Amino acid sequence: MIPEEIRLGSRLIRLVRGDITAEHVDAIVNATNASLRAGGGVCGAIYAAAGPALAEDARRVMADRGPLTPGEAVATVAGDLHARYVIHALGPVWHGGEQSEAEALANAYRNSIKLADALGLQSIAFPSISTGIYGYPLMNAAHVALRTLRDALKNATSVREVHVVLFDQRTYDTWLGAAR
Ligand code: ADP
Repeated sequence: MIPEEIRLGSRLIRLVRGDITAEHVDAIVNATNASLRAGGGVCGAIYAAAGPALAEDARRVMADRGPLTPGEAVATVAGDLHARYVIHALGPVWHGGEQSEAEALANAYRNSIKLADALGLQSIAFPSISTGIYGYPLMNAAHVALRTLRDALKNATSVREVHVVLFDQRTYDTWLGAAR
């Protein structure tokens, strides 16, 4: 089996090296902050590529429901991206591993799949949540994410294809190692 594709019956997890803003999927997941601000990293790239419609919808969501807690996910429009929705998932900041970081990271992936499923979507692209500015150790995060994605995909009714889009070679290689 090629390690960049994990087949689960009719479902698929594919590891891709690249820029998530170039993905053509039903939902692109954003590794967000609690208040859905544009910020830097993958979040800044997604806001820039999506244009003002996304930022405006994010402000509306914030006004409606207030900040996210780690592990939560909410959907907005996707603006100019090649997607129907952006799902904003809040990963944990790494504090050494004793503050339920793994649980919050798993919830961020699980709740994103659940939300996509509730919206009737079939394909979804994730970045490597929490492993940039939030400092979560990469190999550890990839294991938590892959385990969670595999289980969530088994329980999903409409979601059948998950892409994990890894921006740099080290991140891609580490996820590949975790998949093996
Ligand atoms: P967090 O705050 O959750 O750690 P970051 O945006 O800092 O989020 O980093 C998460 C991951 O997203 C990192 O591996 C970073 O290299 C990656 N990343 C940055 N820009 C992009 C992009 N355009 N597409 C996909 N991944 C990206």
